[in-house]
Order: sequence, then structure tokens, then C-alpha cells
Amino acid sequence: MAIIDAINATLTAGWKGDAGWNLKEYEARGGYQSLKRILTGDKLTPDQVIAEVKLSVLRGRGGAGFPTGLKWSFMPKAAPVKYLVCNTDEGEPGTFKDRDLLAYDPHSVIEGMIIAGYAVGAVAGYNYIHGEIFELYERFEAALAEARAAGYLGQNILGSGFNFDLFAHHGWGAYICGEESALLESIEGKKGQPRYKPPFPASVGLYGKPTTINNTETFAAVPLVFRMGGQAYLELGKPNNGGSKLFSVSGHVNKPGNYEVPLGTPFAKLLEMAGGMRNGRKLKGVIPGGSSSPVIPADMIMDCTMDYDSIAKAGSMLGSGAVIVMDETVCMVQALERLSWFYYEESCGQCTPCREGTGWLYKIIHRIEHGEGRPEDLDLLLELGGNIAGRTICALGDAAVMPIQGMLKHFRSEFEYHIEHKKCLVPREVQKAGSTFHTRMMAGAAC
Ligand code: SF4
Repeated sequence: MAIIDAINATLTAGWKGDAGWNLKEYEARGGYQSLKRILTGDKLTPDQVIAEVKLSVLRGRGGAGFPTGLKWSFMPKAAPVKYLVCNTDEGEPGTFKDRDLLAYDPHSVIEGMIIAGYAVGAVAGYNYIHGEIFELYERFEAALAEARAAGYLGQNILGSGFNFDLFAHHGWGAYICGEESALLESIEGKKGQPRYKPPFPASVGLYGKPTTINNTETFAAVPLVFRMGGQAYLELGKPNNGGSKLFSVSGHVNKPGNYEVPLGTPFAKLLEMAGGMRNGRKLKGVIPGGSSSPVIPADMIMDCTMDYDSIAKAGSMLGSGAVIVMDETVCMVQALERLSWFYYEESCGQCTPCREGTGWLYKIIHRIEHGEGRPEDLDLLLELGGNIAGRTICALGDAAVMPIQGMLKHFRSEFEYHIEHKKCLVPREVQKAGSTFHTRMMAGAAC
């Protein structure tokens, strides 16, 4: 299990390992009070609920950081059948926060989804859960049964006249099913491939009906917005970055795990919470938001705060909050080779620039890593990337290109050294000393 630690814990306050997930424990810590306040206490209208979420500036925790209240407001009011979907298809390398949310606090996700369902006028919701965490799918089913038995789901919820039910649906582990339209296809029983957009899901979503899709952590934060009040939730973070966020910290730190901190917390503080650099080694670079986000070198990240705007200013993305820390033993060429293989392997093959281009990107980086690179290869990578990004049906094409652009922007000399000297700038003994880094998973990779 991951290490859990927090400053100003709100999301993780009730996490007690495997002991605290059930309904009794959740209610004891104030669970379902937000729902009661909305439906039977203050009797907020759906528009008032959306306005409060807008005030909180709760931004989507899955990657894009889109404002949640604004997304909910896109749902057409008059449509008779609308759906709500939770994306727990957590597959981005480095990300493992939603897994822990479902393990330790599934009712926060359920309560958040019921509130969202009320706000957008949905008749039913689905939580699409990554296939490789089947035991958490089962736990979510158990939590749904508890919520149903207690009258939080189904017909006439809490006597309010609001009808809404929720279902769990598990995928089989395909990365591309985390893309929202591929996820919808998968729920419908089809091959999980992204749809052309527009139309967007808010117009034509699940089974052709208007659909709102949010990330697991986003839904888990919704009850907090109403427990604290939208303004207080916003002030927990910083302007335009409301609330706290879970960061999955992995790589060369002493205590990898999930950490909850207010948005705007300095990176240095997060690193300190994760136990600092392993074996006292020097920080080389950080991938701040999952493997598709461009790397930020050590000197730049130490000046960053962990929020959407600060990380964007540094030329990367906060993404899902998966922070991959790399020390001086890492060969950046090898790390990039491993990432490029992932995107090549996970391309759904539907569009040519991605299907063919991700393979070409991997092939070029592979030959550089194995001492067969050509002087023109680095410019070729950038040119090829320029012909993939923005020219594909979904964002996987961009996701494959951005790590390459980031690495060549900040660590180009290391790639040039590989090409010229047919070996790595980081001596092999040094790489071996730090060899538990996950890029070593690439069989046979050595330089
Ligand atoms: Fe599939 Fe890649 Fe095209 Fe996305 S960009 S639809 S993953 S081929």
C-alpha cells in the first residue's frame, strides 16, 4: 500500500487503511451530510449547486484541469435522459491516487457523483474502473450496495423526489480507455477507441445521450466543497487553483506514495514530505504530471509551486499529479526510450500519424540509446513530432510527443553525447547504483 501523508488533509482525512472505507465510518466523519444539505436541508437547486462548485474553482483532477462547475453547466437542461460517468481508468505511468481513493474512501466518490448527478440532471451514473484493480471494483460494488440500502441511491433519494442510481463497470487495462470517448465506447460494449469530436460528450455521450465525465478525485472533492463552502475550498488552494490535491510521488525518493497538499504548495515541500532524495543523491529532473507531461529540470522545479498555473508556466502540465522524481543516476535517453515504447504500444491504431508515428519515434530513440543514432536524428524527432501532435483523433498523439519535446529542450546535450560517443554521459556504474528506477523495466536497455 502507498504511504499516505498530508498537509491540511481534507480528501485523505478519513483514510484509515482498510478499516475506514465502509458506510458507518464514512457517516461518522460527516459523510453524506453535503448530500443531505443539498437535497433536504438547504434544498439547493441544481443551478445553485453548480454555482457553488464554480465558486470553489475545483479543477478536473484527471489531467486537463478544466473547471468542474463550468463543465457541469454545459449539460443541456431540457434533455430527458442524461448520464454521469466517473473515470477511474487510471493508467498514466506514475499515477496511483485514484486506486487509493477507491480503496480507502469509496463513499466520497459515490456522494460526489450523486451530487453531480443532481446538478446535471442525470438519471444514472457509471464508474469505469481500471481492469487491473479488480479488488477495488469489488469494494466499490460493496460500497454501492451500502449506499443503496441506506437510501442514498435509487428512487426518491432521502425523500427528495430525486431519482438516481450508480453502477460500477470495469475495463481490462487498455490505457486508451482512459480517454473519455473511448471509455464511453467501452461501457457500451464496443472496442475502446476514441470518437471524433465534436460532438463532445455533453451533447452526444453515453448511448448517444448528454454525458458529464469527471475523474475520481474530482468527484471525491465535491462533498468537501459543500462541507467547507465554495469560498473556503478555493482559499485552501490559491487563486484559480481551488482546494487540495493528491500527488502520487514515485521514483528516486525515500518514501514514494500519495501525498495530499493544498494547490500552491512548493515542490520542495512535497519532496521533503516524500522523504527527500534517496541516498542523498542530486535531483536531475521531475516529470510533474504523469509520463506525458514534459520533464522539468532540477533548478526550475525547485522554484515551482504544485498547481496548474505554476507548472504550466514552467512549460509542463500538472496533469493527474503523478510526480516522477529522477536523480543524477538516470540516463534520460533510456528513460525516454521506455516512455516512447509505452505510447507506441498503447496507440489504438485508429489514425495514421499516431499508429505509424509513435513507432517511428520509438525506433529513433531506441537506436540512439543503443549507439546507432545519427546526427540528424534529434531534428528528425522534433519534425516527426510536429507532424503527429494536433493531427490525431485523440490526445495520445500529443502525449507521445510532449515527453520528447521536453527532454530535447532541457537535456539535448545528453542525447548528442549518446550519438557522438555511442555511450551514455552518465557512467554505467552510476546508472547501476540507481537501478531501481522503473525505466530499467525496459528489457535489455543499457548504454
Ligand atoms: Fe488511437 Fe492514437 Fe488516434 Fe488516439 S491518436 S485515436 S490512440 S491512433
